[in-house]
Amino acid sequence: MRYHQNVEGVQPMGVDKAYCEELGRVVNIYEARKEFFDLPLEKRKRFHFRCADDQCRAEKNPLIVGVNYDKKAEDSEIKQQPHFRIRNEYPHISSCKYYEDMKTNPINTKGTDESQERKSRAKLTDIIDEFILYPENISHKMLQNEKRNRPTIEDSIDDERNLHLRQSPNKTGLNKTGNLRKLVDCWRNMSPENCKKSRIKIHNKNLRYDQLFLHVSNIDNKITDYRVIYGRVTISTWRKDNPDRYYLDFVDASERLPLHKDDRGLSIKLFFSELKKIHRGQHFIDSIEQSLNQGYALTVYVMGRIKQREFKGYEVEILDLDDHLVLDVDKPTA
Ligand SMILES: [Zn+2]
Repeated sequence: MRYHQNVEGVQPMGVDKAYCEELGRVVNIYEARKEFFDLPLEKRKRFHFRCADDQCRAEKNPLIVGVNYDKKAEDSEIKQQPHFRIRNEYPHISSCKYYEDMKTNPINTKGTDESQERKSRAKLTDIIDEFILYPENISHKMLQNEKRNRPTIEDSIDDERNLHLRQSPNKTGLNKTGNLRKLVDCWRNMSPENCKKSRIKIHNKNLRYDQLFLHVSNIDNKITDYRVIYGRVTISTWRKDNPDRYYLDFVDASERLPLHKDDRGLSIKLFFSELKKIHRGQHFIDSIEQSLNQGYALTVYVMGRIKQREFKGYEVEILDLDDHLVLDVDKPTA
């Protein structure tokens, strides 16, 4: 169950080999399984895998997910053969020799749970065409707030109609959403080549998916519009004596951002008072605290715009915390 998120969150593309950090060498998934079960029980901890291409590892060190190598074949829980998968969140260099593999080598489907496969296929046809950023999103919220104050039967019908317009294919066949979680799920299920082909409308712009989703290491100061910025963060609170906010600092902030008062760090500022006001606030606080106290890695996806911070460095400006922020707690980093 602990790895449920990983298995669900990966896209259906695989690679044959990966570099295992614990073993210090490149292995295929069956070698990984053998090494894993050769360890005495008390020392068995899931391995960490990276791209098998030396150059790619030196430059981007993208994570590879090992699936089911830590389970015995007879384990009834297993619905899929062990395999390696890549994740879109961890880009490879363009000359990576495994990159071609990824595009042409869908994972071995022998033994794949059929319903899982059907689900992936269904999701692929369900690519979101438009992200509703503003002002529809905001006006919808205002509408909802107004309605909360004077609920009637007519209003609830109206609400359903609005929800339908926002979230599902409408009569023009366009698939729209204003919810970043849905957009991230959609993107995760796309192959890298599909991300280069598919376009999405956002705030009068028409971007390719691989332009919209930007790993923090790839941002630069030419990008001034709304994008989905994502990456690992570290967390701190401020002020020291009487904290009133979290700072989520992106770990791999881009070297291409010019120094702003001796700093090119990128962060997200979350005031406790704001988090308490929003619908998903407690969920955000729980994720952050879990990461702070238990050493879980936290990956952030945020729909926002990069601007200079008043004092130094950069921050992400967010229009709508509830709908434009996704926090993913990963397995422990240790
Ligand atoms: Zn690679």
